[in-house]
Amino acid sequence: MEAKDRLAIPPQPMPEQAPSERIGNLREVPLGFTPEAAVVEARRCLQCRKAFCTEGCPVGVDIPGFLEAVERGDFASGIGIIRRRNALPAVCGRVCPQEQQCQLACTVGKFHHDPGKSVSIGRIERFLADWERETGAAQASVKAPPTGRRVAVIGSGPAGLTVAGDLILLGHSVTVFEALHQAGGVLVYGIPEFRLPKAIVRREVELLGNLGVEFRLDTIAGRTRPVDELVREYDAVFIGSGAGLPKFQGIPGENLLGVYSANEYLTRANLMKAYDFPAADTPIQRGRTVVTVGGGNVAMDCARTALRMGAERSLVVYRRSEAEMPARREEVHHAREEGVEFHLLENPVEITGGRGGWVEGVRIVRMTLGEPDSSGRRRSIPIEGSEFVQEADEVLVAIGNSPNPLVPSSFPEIETTRWGGIVVNEATGQTSVRGVFAGGDIVLGAATVILAMGQGRIAARAMHAYLSTGRWEGLEEITGAEGGQS
Ligand SMILES: Cc1cc2nc3c(=O)[nH]c(=O)nc-3n(C[C@H](O)[C@H](O)[C@H](O)COP(=O)(O)OP(=O)(O)OC[C@H]3O[C@@H](n4cnc5c(N)ncnc54)[C@H](O)[C@@H]3O)c2cc1C
Repeated sequence: MEAKDRLAIPPQPMPEQAPSERIGNLREVPLGFTPEAAVVEARRCLQCRKAFCTEGCPVGVDIPGFLEAVERGDFASGIGIIRRRNALPAVCGRVCPQEQQCQLACTVGKFHHDPGKSVSIGRIERFLADWERETGAAQASVKAPPTGRRVAVIGSGPAGLTVAGDLILLGHSVTVFEALHQAGGVLVYGIPEFRLPKAIVRREVELLGNLGVEFRLDTIAGRTRPVDELVREYDAVFIGSGAGLPKFQGIPGENLLGVYSANEYLTRANLMKAYDFPAADTPIQRGRTVVTVGGGNVAMDCARTALRMGAERSLVVYRRSEAEMPARREEVHHAREEGVEFHLLENPVEITGGRGGWVEGVRIVRMTLGEPDSSGRRRSIPIEGSEFVQEADEVLVAIGNSPNPLVPSSFPEIETTRWGGIVVNEATGQTSVRGVFAGGDIVLGAATVILAMGQGRIAARAMHAYLSTGRWEGLEEITGAEGGQS
């Protein structure tokens, strides 16, 4: 097929639940491509000689390769190509910020001067992963003979799962210690069911279990099991404990009843099934007017969950403009379709309370944009005399997370940054303690699934080299990666 014919094919729409229907349930919003739509969408790829899309993928998936297989209708080869670099395609196909990575680099989108018209790489990835799961077509992974080496992984988020998956295939024995009662990290306790069904994460965890990874749930490293004990007992340790410590603005009223951190709200509503109260015994307040503070994916998840929990009004208050909002465009679009109200260039300065210590409103100041700050985004500046009070009976604070301090504080030998992240050699994931590696949000600060997985993969390669040679110095020479601290 000629390039001009490929460029003439319009992007294939993905069916989704209607907004009025979906705010009444927790089921997934997009319904996925049909096989026919996936083939047509794959046909839009120009098979560029230089694959800019692959360069834009943090784990370097051969994107033209799998698109070419889909175009031929060879779905088994397509998913096989993805799995060579990405162990969680059903997850990444749903939640990766493709519009800032592979799809931003796509030549088709550039030709149309619209990244929204790039080849829908993420949707095709999702289709292949779902096809594989639904048809039971998964190919058995080949495991290396046992090495006799034992590895402990702290945290079962995307970073920890990637390390576990890579090292078990290399013949090491792997035990994952997870504080919560379910494995998956943010994928199960944060990202809501309507964006990422838990059954999908559960299946990935099950596959690792079938390969021999042992999961010790309800086990807190640094409390139930001291970290130095794990370091002595195992041949290598990976710390992937994430960034689960909520940040607050530090304004008056944040301790009123009806104020939740995003993490607590989503964990209760989502993982602990408060949406099903009283069938599930997790209590949660169901606000009528819910204000969510923040502009990232977490804020969108909170505001959309609040609607599903019965809110009459769900407001997002964000201090910059929409152009600076870090949330994925698709999530903002879905939130808006569902009726979430966006209050941009506004910032809470106080949460006001009333009878019994419950939230009654949020005092808000209007903002304007100044020069870019160190993050490259335009600074937001309060407009004097512009304050007003927004009535609210529930406030969800979604302004970011820091690394949970428990592992570093109970293991002071490990070097940390001023903001509490673990310092690693970014080429290998090695920490300041011999035999201990780290990666994901505990190193990067709150980042993304695919970046956490990318770090897990780097660490797994270095851990394998360490376990095989006993060498600690110069590991990057063995793995062929370039050094540097992060
Ligand atoms: C609500 C929400 C929505 C998001 N949406 C997106 C999105 O759409 N796309 C995207 O790419 N990214 C998104 N992210 C970010 C992404 O989920 C994270 O960057 C990613 O999960 C980090 O992976 P991780 O493995 O480092 O840590 P986590 O996923 O945080 O997993 C860490 C695990 O370690 C466990 N743990 C912590 N301390 C201990 C301990 N002491 N002992 C044992 N276990 C411990 C935790 O319980 C947790 O299960 C979102 C984050 C949130 C909170």
